[in-house]
Amino acid sequence: MIEPKLTIVVPCYNEEEMLPETFICLGEFLEELISSKMISEQSKLLFVDDGSKDKTWSLIYKAGLANPLIKGLKLSKNVGHQNALLAGLFTAKEHSDCMVSIDADLQDDVTVIKDFVQKFTEGYEIVYGVRRERSTDTFFKRNTALGFYRLMKKMGVDLIYNHADFRLMSKRAVEELEKFEETNFFLRGIVPLIGFQSTEVFYNRKERFAGETKYPLRKMLSFALDGITSFSVTPIRFISLIGFLSFFISLVFGAYFLLLKLTGNTTTGWTSLITSIWLIGGLQLIGVGLIGEYVGKIYKEAKRRPKFIIDINTFNLALKSGQTLTVEKEQEQLGFTGLPKTN
Ligand code: UDP
Ligand code: MG
Repeated sequence: MIEPKLTIVVPCYNEEEMLPETFICLGEFLEELISSKMISEQSKLLFVDDGSKDKTWSLIYKAGLANPLIKGLKLSKNVGHQNALLAGLFTAKEHSDCMVSIDADLQDDVTVIKDFVQKFTEGYEIVYGVRRERSTDTFFKRNTALGFYRLMKKMGVDLIYNHADFRLMSKRAVEELEKFEETNFFLRGIVPLIGFQSTEVFYNRKERFAGETKYPLRKMLSFALDGITSFSVTPIRFISLIGFLSFFISLVFGAYFLLLKLTGNTTTGWTSLITSIWLIGGLQLIGVGLIGEYVGKIYKEAKRRPKFIIDINTFNLALKSGQTLTVEKEQEQLGFTGLPKTN
């Protein structure tokens, strides 16, 4: 059997502190897999620069010059982890039989990629990396994440428990993924929808080696809200339910008040009046806000904007020139001057 061509896709956003280590670690690992004949010699590492503001791209570019296994993709601006990953996968699929996505911070155990490839050769199209435990995450992150999975499950969204975006996908699976045209892309929810033969591999998650998390609370919340509203209409149904409930309750109370009026006991208190105004007003605002959330989604989908724009793809540069050494010349021709001189 011929060895599969593997591309490891690594989204990077402001990862200058982390990258030198990542290049070495993933590079050595890939070489090891190649020399043990598990994967083809044409396997690659693809680093996607998600519009970083630091030296991330120049690091990737220079690493590519020094090591032909390393390829780079520069996005025109920051589009977020999920879209950066997609950009990487869709680019990588042209050059590979299977792709593994992994974060630049090496929190996921690189060595289990071996198991991923093993499963791929056994015929699985999608292999999910699943965290065995979360002891290295902060107490806060661990519990919010757990709550998130539970909430998603309640809302009818099928997620792989404790699986982040560390997974292997076959070329065929990525081709199918490309057919999902939605703009609000929540990979973790969409990949299980592809189907095909899939399996899970368990591993222990480590601490971030350098740099800090690019997912502060604000981004985490928006990620969770996105995940929920992209996949589930339960919140809207919930609001309608509350609406019905309050409607029936008010009917009952209305009848009661009418009875009071008829019997002459018209004690219409200011407190109850103002409370109900606030209560109903609040409910309405929640409802309108939620509906707005979905309308916003429809608005975004209707525009069909591209999810990412590629600025530079070193795969193409190398392919055109035939060898990596002349890439800098090619770049000059392309009018790309944003790179510091290599010394
Ligand atoms: N990332 C990205 N674009 C962003 C934010 C993050 O490409 O806008 C990358 C980041 O460089 C890292 C991965 O996504 O490789 C996961 O981010 P991080 O490790 O900060 O998230 P955490 O592990 O804390 O959830
Ligand atoms: Mg991380």
